[in-house]
Amino acid sequence: DMRAVGKWTWLTLLRSDEIRDEYDVIVVGGGHAGTEAAAAAARLGAETLLITQKIMTIGALSCNPSLGGVGKGQLVREVDALDGLCGRAGDSAGVHFSILNRSKGPAVWGPRAQLDRERYRQFIQSELLSTPRLTVLEGSVDELLVSQPNPEEPGHHRVTGIRLVDGSHPILSSSVVLTTGTFLSGSLFMGQTTSPGGRMGDAQSCAGLSYTLKETLGLRVGRLRTGTPPRIVKESVDLSLAQLQAPDKQPTPFSFLNTHTRCKPEEQLPCYLTHTTPGVERVVRESVHLNCHIQQDTKGPRYCPSIESRVLRFPGRRHQVWLEPEGLTSDLLYPQGLSMTMPPDLQLRLLREIPALHRAEIRAPGYGVQYDFVCPTQLTPSLQVKSTQGLFLAGQINGTTGYEEAAAQGLWAGVNAGRTALSLPPIALSRTQSYIGVLIDDLVGRGVTEPYRMFTSRAEFRTYLRPDNADLRLTPRGFEEVGCVTLRRYKKAVSVRDGLQEALMALQSVALSSTRWREKLGNISLSENKSTTLNGLDLLQYKDVSFEMLASAFPECLSQYFEYSQRLKIEAVYRPHCEKQSREMERIRSEESLSLPSDMDYLSLPVSLSHEVREILDRVRPNTVSLIYASKVILIKYIIMTTDGNRKFR
Ligand code: FAD
Repeated sequence: DMRAVGKWTWLTLLRSDEIRDEYDVIVVGGGHAGTEAAAAAARLGAETLLITQKIMTIGALSCNPSLGGVGKGQLVREVDALDGLCGRAGDSAGVHFSILNRSKGPAVWGPRAQLDRERYRQFIQSELLSTPRLTVLEGSVDELLVSQPNPEEPGHHRVTGIRLVDGSHPILSSSVVLTTGTFLSGSLFMGQTTSPGGRMGDAQSCAGLSYTLKETLGLRVGRLRTGTPPRIVKESVDLSLAQLQAPDKQPTPFSFLNTHTRCKPEEQLPCYLTHTTPGVERVVRESVHLNCHIQQDTKGPRYCPSIESRVLRFPGRRHQVWLEPEGLTSDLLYPQGLSMTMPPDLQLRLLREIPALHRAEIRAPGYGVQYDFVCPTQLTPSLQVKSTQGLFLAGQINGTTGYEEAAAQGLWAGVNAGRTALSLPPIALSRTQSYIGVLIDDLVGRGVTEPYRMFTSRAEFRTYLRPDNADLRLTPRGFEEVGCVTLRRYKKAVSVRDGLQEALMALQSVALSSTRWREKLGNISLSENKSTTLNGLDLLQYKDVSFEMLASAFPECLSQYFEYSQRLKIEAVYRPHCEKQSREMERIRSEESLSLPSDMDYLSLPVSLSHEVREILDRVRPNTVSLIYASKVILIKYIIMTTDGNRKFR
């Protein structure tokens, strides 16, 4: 009695014989990685089956009701540019849009939105429902089916399908994407109690799956942890004692398809800022012995720590607490910054030490989760397990944290799972081209020792990898080469690209001396001497010159490009710097295309390398020369030249 979602009806009960025996791609897990993976594989043309424990939790936001932020917003824009779901879902569910980091340059702005949980979930579910070639099945996968294609290659496998926990017949597939999040050997922690589970109310992933990964496939697995705060009844909070934080006046949508957000002004809700007090620190200290989650050595998210970690690491400080809406009709507030795992009565005591929360009521207590992750250096840049053909991993199972990181990996794993099933070669994204490329390159090249989250500082070419130009960087390639972008989106991106190119040429065509510009535009400060000739693009680089000013000076050439005014300004500001970096980007791209044989015998290479370096190379087995740099081993060029000067490994 498996349940599946048919194309037109919601929660249609399908008999098990209505599920086929074989699919091109099977995706396990309906979280942020799994939904993007399934939708991307289906967009590519693969018959796809998404299997998840509970259909109603598809698209659930396990923790914070928000999307985007610094680095993360860039990922959402890129997923959207490749026709993924989360950007449009964020626009549909956003109740408080704001751009973070506005005091810095636009390359590192962080588009972010508070979300209505219900709307987000509904959007993702209805998108999956209307995706052709995609079937959703409610069930738990207990076993990966694998074969050993070549007896002479012990340790090398090929995935052939999955088996469900109910013991029903196997479902076959040449590509499987695992996106089991925090569910792999998951344990939940609250106070002194521990119970198995992947998330409150959800069972952990079946033991058989862990067994296949660890024992049959011999994958190295580590353990990480995270936690979530209690949810507070809004009416019980004295918001007059907190500082109101209004959303941006003009919401900035995530999706390139939305020139306006659906969000009406009356649907924009405020957030509130408050702070911890010495009383909070006291409760944390008094309850340490009753809090088994924080007594463990397992690494948690450094940039999203629990209140216990914050207080114990930085005693005597006042810590920020954001009170965030959970949705338009929700009667709950989410206290960002107060993730905690002490017993529920002490959670209440702690909250009430904060003036705005002195009468707070808790609807659901905070808790922690510890889970297994697969060390991601065992993956290729297409997110395929190196030793197991057809098996792809994405999301928190790879040691990342956050919805955006999961969605980005999910999309890319889905693309490659679809390509494998359709007998197309795997495809990688360069770190010079996208944050998704940076994320995957960091994971497979360096691995993780703590939950990995994206920051703009991780991208060397962040002045080029901007949120404003993700469509130009990725959409054409996504359509022409990758196959995951629909014609509608491609046409839109091409028309924007052509429009911007025309506008840039028009700007370059209006050239005047700096004296004449000053006369035309009034009191602007230009550093150039009077006789220097500047074109419109040069001028737009100046802080106090806007495209609108130039268009009012030359309306006949420029006014038709008003819709691009912000993008033109950003392009003008960053263009000289990006041009300077282009040679370095070229070098990295060429190294990314230099592949290395998977069976290279690093331990006995006839070159002078320290034993430590050999061991790192042997363990990481980098796929490309650029990943050698990521592994912090920079002698590979020497190895290549010594073993074969003719680039044998290309
Ligand atoms: P998930 O969203 O967890 O989805 C996994 C899916 O796989 C689920 O739908 C599950 O039902 C399904 N599944 C698992 N096993 C099987 C199986 N055998 N068969 C079928 N289906 C299966 N992120 C942050 O950025 N900051 C935080 O502070 C933070 N705190 C968190 C606190 C908690 C308690 C939890 C649970 C998560 C937290 N997260 C946090 C993480 C955030 O939820 C994840 O990063 C994100 O959801 C990962 O997406 P995913 O798709 O990898 O996995």
